[in-house]
Amino acid sequence: MITMRRVVKVDGDLPLIGCIAFGIIDRGTNLLQIRVTTLCPYNCIYCSVDAGPHSRTRQTEYVITDVDYLVETLRQVIEYKGVKHVEAHLDGVGEVMTYDKIVELVQKLSEIPQIKVISMQTRGYRFTYHILDELADAGLSRVNLSIDALDSDLAKYMAGVDWYNVEEVINYAEYIVRSTKMDLLIAPVWVPGINDREIPRLIEWAKRIGAGKRWPPLGIQKFVVHKRGRKPRGVREMRWSEFYRWLRKWEKEFGIKLVLSPEDFQIFKTRSLPTRFRVGERIWVKVVEWGWQKGELLGVCGDRLVTIVGVRSDEGEYLLGKVVRVEVIENKHNIYLARLHL
Ligand code: SF4
Repeated sequence: MITMRRVVKVDGDLPLIGCIAFGIIDRGTNLLQIRVTTLCPYNCIYCSVDAGPHSRTRQTEYVITDVDYLVETLRQVIEYKGVKHVEAHLDGVGEVMTYDKIVELVQKLSEIPQIKVISMQTRGYRFTYHILDELADAGLSRVNLSIDALDSDLAKYMAGVDWYNVEEVINYAEYIVRSTKMDLLIAPVWVPGINDREIPRLIEWAKRIGAGKRWPPLGIQKFVVHKRGRKPRGVREMRWSEFYRWLRKWEKEFGIKLVLSPEDFQIFKTRSLPTRFRVGERIWVKVVEWGWQKGELLGVCGDRLVTIVGVRSDEGEYLLGKVVRVEVIENKHNIYLARLHL
């Protein structure tokens, strides 16, 4: 069933730090996550953030419309961190390639001197040879391509949409390696019992086409059950030890690096942005929007966004636009969750 959701356009009137769904996330390294959109046209069967038309937990989607404001905020974050080698990683709780200003954004990111690498997580939505050329010319360094199976029926099933055409995506992936200066990292999610046989096929293919010119060619992801994510019926989560045992076995078999570490991507620890609120602290927050998930409101306090959880829908309607007192319950990496303290 497709659910209709509000789409909020974020321009210069909201802070861009504090919410997991959009903006800038600093986890205390030289890699900064940039989240421009929560929209996604897919319904991947394992989606950890329950995105797409069939989502059951979302109520609002967010899209950052003011690219200059985003880039300026990022500039300030980088200045504060004082890092000279930054990776700007475009990812999110949606599909990055739905963003219609993606080329402009990459271009403007590449003009920030400290940004040495620009990478993007995508399933290949809206890929054409032309847009890949444009992204390469704008300065995109690496495409992290989510592709879970080479078999077309299985790929469709896992993407959760009939129109997903993995053959096309395969062609574009090969074009990235062959005809652009960008690198390609193949990033399948291994869902036990569903695409076990596809993982070695993907490894063999990534190696054959020459993915991983500058970084490792594959980043195989373990399927992990998330509280609000999707879990295909009958699937059991694999233990980490078993997962790594398989990766090591395939490393030997294919002569390719599969167990990855931050050093493989030149990621290192740096100064973090200052934490504004402590866990347990009570603060006043202006409620500005519905949160991205049901039962949530989005608030602002100073230069941070705060997600207020555990809100009833009748309560939310009443609180929109008001200033409320909340108690902070999480603050890790400057992502704030709070509960109403009325
Ligand atoms: S896994 Fe990614 S592409 Fe798939 S539904 Fe979730 S956000 Fe969209």
